[in-house]
Amino acid sequence: MMQLLNGNEVSKIIKANIKEQVLKIKADGGKTPHLAAILVGSDGASITYVAAKEKDCEEVGFNSTILRFDASISEENLIAEVEKINQNKDIDGLIVQLPLPKQINEKRITEAISYKKDVDGFHPMNVGMMFKGLETFLPATPYGVIQLLAHYNIETSGKNCVIIGRSDIVGKPMSALMLQKNCTVTVCHSKTVNLSDFTKNADIIIAAIGIPLFLKANMVKEGAVVVDVGITRVEDSNSKNGYKLMGDVDFKSVAPKCSFITPVPGGVGPMTRVALLLNTLDAVKRYPNH
Ligand code: NAD
Repeated sequence: MMQLLNGNEVSKIIKANIKEQVLKIKADGGKTPHLAAILVGSDGASITYVAAKEKDCEEVGFNSTILRFDASISEENLIAEVEKINQNKDIDGLIVQLPLPKQINEKRITEAISYKKDVDGFHPMNVGMMFKGLETFLPATPYGVIQLLAHYNIETSGKNCVIIGRSDIVGKPMSALMLQKNCTVTVCHSKTVNLSDFTKNADIIIAAIGIPLFLKANMVKEGAVVVDVGITRVEDSNSKNGYKLMGDVDFKSVAPKCSFITPVPGGVGPMTRVALLLNTLDAVKRYPNH
């Protein structure tokens, strides 16, 4: 019997737990976690993402601040703004919403954020710590996937895990985390030859590509666990926003073969959001004096 990996439901449970911890911290006279987000320019998707993060903070009792800058801001000035937040004792976590305008080098901004406030887990220091298996801020999407698999007690030890995609924010960190969970990990990508030879042997498939309906039923073995990270906006005149979200997995044909599968939406998306909250709460505990 196929079972859904219900990210909406699991994220609600984790959020309730975070909320309880925050109430306790406040009751004990501790510091309210505070997340700051830098938003540069007026990209529609970025505005939506940052607003969602603000709403999530409010829901669990965190403070949040959105710092908005014009798309024309220079790299130097943006770095100065990041440094101000690094020095601000009240702010525990800082995220810079990507993508940034062309004149700004994302790598330089990522590296300007203090690793102690880097709740996106993109700073090389945190990436290194994650690869060594040290406790640190984990990138939100892979961290969310790990939490989702754990919630359903999905066995990872000794399992063949195929990850499709090798980006710095999803595929690569996902491979490090599944390796730590004792999987035998294969990372497939755009240059992989005969990709389905790998996926057909996989006990767990994590698709993070960005191509709707990429993973078909004939690429998946019976009983596999399938996690669909992909989100692509596709025009849809029947929907009230004019678009719908599509994953990388051909859900209709793949789901009947699976033991577990994530829906899109309602799978990895809400888990990614809650993972950022977990990191922000950890920031207060891990680096109380920044
Ligand atoms: P990316 O574009 O940086 O990386 C895509 C990866 O897919 C690349 O490593 C590439 O090698 C691989 N790829 C491309 N074409 C391929 C092909 N034909 N065969 C095999 N591999 C191929 O994307 P990303 O940032 O890693 O995001 C991947 C997807 O996940 C996107 O749809 C994105 O919107 C989504 N995403 C979702 C969440 C979430 O919260 N659910 C978070 C982050 C990203």
